[in-house]
Amino acid sequence: MDLFKLYPDTNGEDTKRQEFLSLIESLIIKIDDLRDGESATLAGSLDRDYKKIIENGVIPEQGVSYDTLLDELQNLVQGNPIGGKFAVFNAHPLSSIPSLLGHLTSAIINSNSIWDIVSPAAAEAEIKVSAMMARVLGYDPYKSNGYFTYGGQGGTAASLRIGIEKTAPGSRYEGIPNNLYCFTSSNAHFSLHKAVETGMGMNRVILISTNEDGSMNLNELYEKMSQALADGGRIALVQATMGSTDTFAIDDIKGIKEIIDHLVTEYQLDYVPHLHADGAMGGLYSFFNLYDFENNPLGFDLKTLQGLYQIHADLHYIHLADSISIDFHKLGQTPYNCSIFMVKNSTDLNLVNLAMEHCPYIGEMGYGEYFTSYTIECSRMASSITALATLLTFGIEGYQKLLGQYIQMTIAFRDLLKQKSSLIKPVNRKNYGPCTIFRVYYNETEYVTETKNRATAQQLQKINELNTQFYNLLRMNRHYIMFGDTKKSDYKFASDTDEKIAINGTKAFIISPYTDLEALDIITDYVVDTYHQLVALISDNAKEELK
Ligand SMILES: *Cc1c(COP(=O)(O)O)cnc(C)c1O
Repeated sequence: MDLFKLYPDTNGEDTKRQEFLSLIESLIIKIDDLRDGESATLAGSLDRDYKKIIENGVIPEQGVSYDTLLDELQNLVQGNPIGGKFAVFNAHPLSSIPSLLGHLTSAIINSNSIWDIVSPAAAEAEIKVSAMMARVLGYDPYKSNGYFTYGGQGGTAASLRIGIEKTAPGSRYEGIPNNLYCFTSSNAHFSLHKAVETGMGMNRVILISTNEDGSMNLNELYEKMSQALADGGRIALVQATMGSTDTFAIDDIKGIKEIIDHLVTEYQLDYVPHLHADGAMGGLYSFFNLYDFENNPLGFDLKTLQGLYQIHADLHYIHLADSISIDFHKLGQTPYNCSIFMVKNSTDLNLVNLAMEHCPYIGEMGYGEYFTSYTIECSRMASSITALATLLTFGIEGYQKLLGQYIQMTIAFRDLLKQKSSLIKPVNRKNYGPCTIFRVYYNETEYVTETKNRATAQQLQKINELNTQFYNLLRMNRHYIMFGDTKKSDYKFASDTDEKIAINGTKAFIISPYTDLEALDIITDYVVDTYHQLVALISDNAKEELK
């Protein structure tokens, strides 16, 4: 084996570049051969036989040729969802071309964000994107700071580390005291439950119930925080959700900050509980902080504009948070992982910074000006370069346009459903966002009973069962149109017991730039047809049973 065949030329020599480019071209052609805009997935089987895969999991004695490799890669991606117009299953983006160029840049120079000596490019991109985003979010770009981390999950964990040190200084040395608590809404992402796992424990996360629009109930937040403090507890973190994962509920972060400040005075706390804004899903809508709603330069229709304004009304207070996390790899259309964690005061990072004597491998060597010893990761991928390329190319206007289109299409989707069926209803109808969760019913009375909280536990379960059957039918056809589904879109109190019952539903996440009105017409026809198919199946089964 000629090892040099496996590397780019270090002089940037032409023939070698042509070879590399032709391999990239062949790879893209092979993937494109599997593409079909009328399908949610690449061609080929969606299922995998994992037992067989383990059986074949053996490294070849002699490495394979590039031709074989390309064939292997083509086989690998068969059946994989790809963000065309019918991929509406989740906030799973279609990587944009600028984001791919950024990603590739970072891979080619193999940047590592940990230290500017190993990658000045990564350091520059990270500092630049942090300043860019500070200006969008309403942070002071000179006082704030940010870094790219392992997803929204990483942002939540990062905020918790800081919160704990603020509330119980020295915890990183002594361990976490057993009177610390976190508060977030029952609609929050499960990230916080994972973040507390190795330290505080999940039972210290107090979940606050939600209002009708899915946002955190602030009376209850006040009561429960107050109770914890009165009982001698200390509050390490309050997490506001700025766009919940499925229902796009946005917490009243201004109200939350007021409660925190009020309690600091009331209980004369010697610390201020850390407030984190989980903007993994919704944070990018901060681009509308810079939109002229009055003159509407992008010409959004009235309903879309109202939807955007409703999001903006809560979201523009996001700068009140001490830290913010945002996923570009969701609504920002980049490859994974591309998530920023920002702190309002860069000095907060000192609370979790490792002492230089603990990191002799790099920081203490005494050169370089940018060394991120405050991150949980050691080496970090430079997805800041991906974000930079994307932000430069989309610009503020491009992102406003894209994010606005999600809302426009979601509104159109809900309108079409309403026109086409009276038995298919959005659950999160009070929220605008890129996602609609919808439920099917046997009849309209059932729906009314459920929304008015008059359904019995048995009735709620019966509708849940119908919806499970419904999304199971959709799942079988996912190569065509791919929906998501959830077991917990909201909670309902049963009228006959005090039980709080999670209600399920099907999700339509419209974030492909290719999902247009024409596609929505097809998608909604398909939803209605599938519903009729289900009803026919159920009545056939019932007839069978009677026989
Ligand atoms: C997706 C999501 C997360 C987790 O983000 P990852 O990037 O998947 O780690 C956290 N919070 C919210 C609100 C999310 O939607």
